[in-house]
Parts: sequence; C-alpha cells; structure tokens
Amino acid sequence: MQLIDRRTFVGAPDFAAQVPVVNFVLPCYNEEAVLPETATRLSALLDELKREGLIAPSSAAYFVDDGSRDRTWELIRSLAASSPHFCGIRLSRNRGHQNALLCGLMSVGGDALISLDADLQDDLGIVADMIRAFRAGHEVVYAVRRRRDSDRWFKRVTAEGYYRLLAAMGVNLVFNHADYRLLARRPLEALRGYQEPHLFLRGLVPLLGYRSATVEFDRAERFAGESKYPLGKMLALAWQGVSSFSAYPLRLITGAGVVVSLVSLAMAVWALAVRLFTDAALPGWASTVIPMYFLGGIQLLGLGVIGEYLAKVFEAGKQRPRYQVESVCGDWGAS
Ligand code: UDP
Ligand code: MG
Repeated sequence: MQLIDRRTFVGAPDFAAQVPVVNFVLPCYNEEAVLPETATRLSALLDELKREGLIAPSSAAYFVDDGSRDRTWELIRSLAASSPHFCGIRLSRNRGHQNALLCGLMSVGGDALISLDADLQDDLGIVADMIRAFRAGHEVVYAVRRRRDSDRWFKRVTAEGYYRLLAAMGVNLVFNHADYRLLARRPLEALRGYQEPHLFLRGLVPLLGYRSATVEFDRAERFAGESKYPLGKMLALAWQGVSSFSAYPLRLITGAGVVVSLVSLAMAVWALAVRLFTDAALPGWASTVIPMYFLGGIQLLGLGVIGEYLAKVFEAGKQRPRYQVESVCGDWGAS
C-alpha cells in the first residue's frame, strides 16, 4: 500500500486570515489593438484590490504572448518595464489559446491564478467576488455568463447547443463557462498531472474536483480588434471537447451498425417473403443500389471517427511538449 503523507492533505491554507498572492494570466494573440486599454484597466483593478487588502502587494498580471505577429510582445515588454503590475512570457510560436493559457497556469506562481481573455470581454467587475469566494475556501471559482446577448445569433445557438450535446454525452461541463476562472494552488498542481496533448481546459478543470463556486457575469463585446477564434478554430476546439472527453461517437457507430444490420435482416426476410408468397416483380435498382451507398457511407463515417481517436493515441504516444517559452519579461520575483 502506498504511504500517505498527511501534510499533503491538511486542506487549503486559510486565506481568510492571510492575504494571498493572486496573479492574472492573459493569453494574447495579435492583441495590439486592445492591450493598452486592458493594461490600464487591469492596473486600476490591481491597485484597488491591493488597497482593499484582498490580494497581496506582489500580485501581478502575466501576459502570455502566443507567438503574435504584430506589436503585442513589444507592448508587453514596455508594460513590464514601466510597471511592477505586469510581466510577460512569450511562446516560440503560435500554439493556440488553450496551450498559451496552460503555459501561463504552469509557469506563474502565487496562491491563486485568474485566467481571462485579453480583449476585455470578461467583466473585471466580478474579480473581487471571485477572490472573496476563494478566500472563503473555494479552490476553483468559475465565472459563468448570465446571458449570451453580446453574441451573434449563430454563436449563441451553436454554443448553447454544444454545451447541451456534451452534457448529453456525459461530459461534465459548467454551463456557459469558458476559460474565465480562478484556480488555487492545489488544483493548479493537480492540473500539472494531466499530460494530454489535446487540451480542453474547461472539460479538465471539473475533473480536478476541490471545493468550487460560481460567480455570474455579463460578457461584453470585444473592446477592439477581431476575434482570434474563426469558425475553423472554434470547430476544432468543439471537436477537441467531444473527442477528448467522450467515447460516445464511437459507441454511436456501434449503435448505427446494429440498427443498419437489423434493418438489412428485416429486408432480407421481406424479400424472401415476396419471393415465396407473391409473384410481384423482382426488386429493382433502388433496393440494390441505395443500401449499398448507405452502408458505404456508414462505413466511411465509422472509419473516420475511429481514425480521429486513433490519431489522438498517435499524438499522445509522441509525448511532445505542448508549448515552448522563448523569453520572459518583468519582475518574476513573486513566482
Ligand atoms: N488567443 C491566443 N491564441 C490564439 C487565439 C486566441 O492566445 O491562437 C487569445 C486571444 O488573444 C484572446 C483569447 O485567446 O485573449 C480569446 O480569443 P478571442 O477573444 O479572439 O476569442 P472569442 O472571444 O472571439 O471566442
Ligand atoms: Mg474574445
């Protein structure tokens, strides 16, 4: 039996009594248009939270530059040079939002980290409530969207449909929660153990457990610049969520196979009955060709889905690192 070191399980430190270091992690990809405004608002927020004694004076915001091609990294460097509130970390190339966020979560220290988008869509007004929930003993605090008014019709319908679909497949997701959340040190360290190459953080975090709370907010329009999540990337993330957390599509194929086989069996019985008990014309073109195409389609679909899962095993087997840091800036003293 494995020996258990009791010190690991004494529970979360009591942050009601001591002032915790709470750092912010913001992935940025080509965000030169919003960064100055984001920094101004974050700086004011950090000042206020420190003044109220909610977070320790060394708390800061860490921008993770996901290999931007515009002036994002230069801006981050000058922010870090001009204020102790800001630090930066630059990936060697664009690795996508989930990997950039993971890099920040794994690299930045502090008692808790709050992850949010750089485009000011995530309402900073609820940060104080998230920290209060954390200090009251919640180690995971999910920011959940109250409404989806700020989304276009298409995004709203597809997003909500998607959350329902995943729930139906048995994936444990927090409804209308994306990547705006607070994670305390223990869940962050637990996250380190999840080495899968296809990240879908909003699916992973509920798996970690720990005491959690939700705080509601209204998501604003993007402050400036364009969405860095075009339809293709969004579909890729959606598929990541399905295929990394559920074998349901594979089971669906088995189900489809069973149904199609039963139907063909019934057709065979029917054809035999027609042959034996009537003198009707021979079954024609349709009854031969349609099932052939139909079965061909089902088989191709089945192979495709199996291939997708196989590709995941293939990539997981390689165990490649999920990101590479090129450089950092700012005072990382607290981390
Ligand atoms: N992002 C990133 N790498 C990417 C794409 C996006 O780091 O390859 C960042 C982006 O800068 C932003 C966040 O991820 O801070 C969310 O992206 P965006 O706001 O464009 O997505 P949307 O809100 O439109 O879904
Ligand atoms: Mg956005």
